[in-house]
Amino acid sequence: MNISMHKKLTIALVAHDRRKADMVDWVRFNAETLSHHKLICTGTTGGLVKRALEEMGVVPEITCMHSGPMGGDAEIAALVVQKQIDLAIFLIDDLNPQPHEADIQMLLRQCRVHNVPIACNRYSADLMITSTLWDDTSYVPTEPTYVPFER
Ligand code: PGA
Repeated sequence: MNISMHKKLTIALVAHDRRKADMVDWVRFNAETLSHHKLICTGTTGGLVKRALEEMGVVPEITCMHSGPMGGDAEIAALVVQKQIDLAIFLIDDLNPQPHEADIQMLLRQCRVHNVPIACNRYSADLMITSTLWDDTSYVPTEPTYVPFER
């Protein structure tokens, strides 16, 4: 896919083991687009993403954190809190239990709290990465509100 976007984004990529094939395929499909952005990945995902992009002639700007179960999700959640992530692609294995479920929920929650777009399937990821809103300077994302509801 070839979508020209001008704003350089910092994109977090995380895939659980049984979703890694999907992530590699998604990265290949979006290789040209991803070549314009900075990638932050959990350890094992990052190695696969880097190799997939290099095989397509793209030299990615990529940082690999710890592996997910060893704290990589937590490290990326911390970057979300520090407003250093523009977009997260998080391919979760919803059919098998994960040892780091607490960290997975923390990353999801911090993306919600800090209004960071997070795609948990490829369709959402394709929609988000091709959005023209990234370059619309008149668009200001609306932060979540937490207003008591009176019945
Ligand atoms: P990994 O971590 O990329 O190091 O496998 C992903 C995860 O399990 O959250």
